[in-house]
Amino acid sequence: MTYLLSAAKLQTYYRCPRAYYFRYQRRVESAAFFGSAALGTSLHQALAQIYQDWHYQDPIPRWDWFEYCWSQRVEELTPTQADEGRSILKRYYKMFILNQSAMRKPLAVEGRIQGLLRAENLEFTLSGRYDRIDYLDDGLELIDYKSAKEIELAEPDEIDLQIGLYYLALEQRYQRSLKRLSLLYLRTGEKISFDASPTHRERVKTVISDLAVELRRDRKWLPFPGNQCNRCAYARYCSAMRPDPDPLPEDTRPEPGLQLVLSI
Ligand code: SF4
Repeated sequence: MTYLLSAAKLQTYYRCPRAYYFRYQRRVESAAFFGSAALGTSLHQALAQIYQDWHYQDPIPRWDWFEYCWSQRVEELTPTQADEGRSILKRYYKMFILNQSAMRKPLAVEGRIQGLLRAENLEFTLSGRYDRIDYLDDGLELIDYKSAKEIELAEPDEIDLQIGLYYLALEQRYQRSLKRLSLLYLRTGEKISFDASPTHRERVKTVISDLAVELRRDRKWLPFPGNQCNRCAYARYCSAMRPDPDPLPEDTRPEPGLQLVLSI
């Protein structure tokens, strides 16, 4: 039997089993997932189209092409959001396109990738989403667009975990190594890159195996207080944060019974 596990779930569990419980077992809505989600989605879709549909006969597109792709994505947005998105794309265009001799065609844009991992006689399909995969001279670069207002860098261990997950999946899918993971903050134009190495990968494989097995068996979902609590959307419901935490909202999913399979 194969258990399906997403990179986002594994990372959340790694950060704190209790937060995982709130988010995936009980499906508690959190403000962190609202806000400017619509603008973020439109930006992701526009960038996917910009790279996917460009003909690549001209070395770099003109701004008109960006403007055209953006105009396809503004239907669900308020006029203010549409303007804000256009400004964000303009900055992107100036910083990452205009100063290049050519816009390189990526290997893939906006998709899902899966990799298989066996641990303790259990088989896991690790799945994750990517925004863009670029070719490097000696491997691949995975680009993750971030549209949040504030730059929130994950802990180094979490980044390692993410790199490991994608390393495994990309190697199996494309037979190429992940060399770099880059977080591209669309609102500031900042790009933060992390190298991926074979040593790195081996270490992460062990961590992932242990975690995946642990997650599969967890029934307690113990809180894991730490720096992550400062930005946790579930702190008000968490007994590690408050002696008298808020009750979960009424529309929260009922407590699942003893489960044999992880929910997807
Ligand atoms: S507040 Fe901290 S301990 Fe509680 S669920 Fe969030 S991350 Fe976990």
